[in-house]
Amino acid sequence: MDPVVALCKRRGFVFPASEIYGGIANTYDYGHYGVLLKRNVVDAWWRAMLEERDDVVALDSAIIQHPRTWEASGHLAGFTDPLIDCRTCKRRFRADHLAESACGTRPSKRAGEDPACELTEAREFNLMFETSIGPVKDAGSTVFLRPETAQGIFLNFKNVLQFARRKPPFGIAQVGKSFRNEITPGNFIFRTLEFEQMEMEFFVPPAEAGEWYEHWMRERFDWYTRYGIRPGKLRLRPHEPDELSHYSSATADVEYEFPIGWSELEGIANRGDFDLTQHANASGEKLEYFDQQTKERYVPHVIEPAAGVGRSVLAFLCDAYEEETLEQGETRTVLRLHPALAPVKVAVLPLVKKDGQPEVAREIVAALRGRMSVEYDEGGSIGKRYRRQDEIGTPYGVTVDHQTLEDRTVTVRDRDSLAQERLPIDGLAEVLDARLRADWTSPKCARAS
Ligand code: ATP
Repeated sequence: MDPVVALCKRRGFVFPASEIYGGIANTYDYGHYGVLLKRNVVDAWWRAMLEERDDVVALDSAIIQHPRTWEASGHLAGFTDPLIDCRTCKRRFRADHLAESACGTRPSKRAGEDPACELTEAREFNLMFETSIGPVKDAGSTVFLRPETAQGIFLNFKNVLQFARRKPPFGIAQVGKSFRNEITPGNFIFRTLEFEQMEMEFFVPPAEAGEWYEHWMRERFDWYTRYGIRPGKLRLRPHEPDELSHYSSATADVEYEFPIGWSELEGIANRGDFDLTQHANASGEKLEYFDQQTKERYVPHVIEPAAGVGRSVLAFLCDAYEEETLEQGETRTVLRLHPALAPVKVAVLPLVKKDGQPEVAREIVAALRGRMSVEYDEGGSIGKRYRRQDEIGTPYGVTVDHQTLEDRTVTVRDRDSLAQERLPIDGLAEVLDARLRADWTSPKCARAS
């Protein structure tokens, strides 16, 4: 993971939060290219949910909901991790992660491995962040920052049914921040205290739950490979019966082989009618569907694909990262990101900062702008500028040189193959647009096979 973390810092994707104060646990800020990459990942998710199908609608619910939400959902009583303290090194561990946790003493071993380790019994620790409403903090003012976006969707089930005129099967999708007071230090942006989720609750007639569960497992697995993750690095892992949440009859994780090992990217769960029933009982509202045709009344079952934006970004970054040895023995670091995810699609680079080259380059930028994310860069040697664009994963570099001034052609450099091609400025936007939209497979796939 270290080279990816270093690149993220060096190129302004991700910074440790509050760095000038020494940082704050498990919290990161996204810089310019991080924001663009994250936005492209979220856009790709919305596209798959909304534009490429017509049975899902969007929602943006509040982060702070009525506190009874969390009573009904079971989070207040049960959204806990088993916490173990070490009296010797004062570190805290998740009991279920003990085998992978490093002990605080030196030389570092596994927690509990050293005879000096003095571990406490596990105690349950609620992961929800508490805050309060109003100037006086009393028992009635306590509220929680949502630990998942899903519950806001269940609370709006009736609204969507009525006002979006939907009938099962249909889904409600939401992207937004969630908060968890995670005990164990995460691996970079893999596990953070605040994180964005991309969640969709798909409401179905109970008899169809099994087939929709299969459908969403396939859809979500394919989404990652479509956006460039190598299939060999991805797997679907069904939960063992003892791993299942109390409400779930089946759950499978899409796992990616991160440098830290196989880890969850996204969970797909068959939640049954648990959530709607719980909220109906607690609120007194009927959260059900009446089918006019069959005259049948039922509580829909729910299939939930729940993904994390930061974790997806990390998987896309890890999968794209490569240190390549070139023919001349040089190495270059390149992010082989899917063009749809690349923060910048085209870099326009005048070879020199004079002789009319910057003016022509600016003219090209103006022609591309609005069609694709484009960056102009005239600072430093051309080699350095190419390396910088390779490291942020820019698929194409357009170089303006002395010949451009004579015949209005430019050099187009392909990030992956390093092929350079002379193309006319006229029609360049259309050519690049078509190439950026073409099917793309990571060159790392070909090498692996
Ligand atoms: P884990 O077992 O890793 O704690 P989880 O099973 O509790 O995850 P879910 O509640 O299923 O996670 O949340 C859905 C998705 O949200 C996860 O697959 C992950 O991508 C993301 N996610 C959950 N917790 C965090 C976190 N602390 N930081 C970053 N992303 C997270």
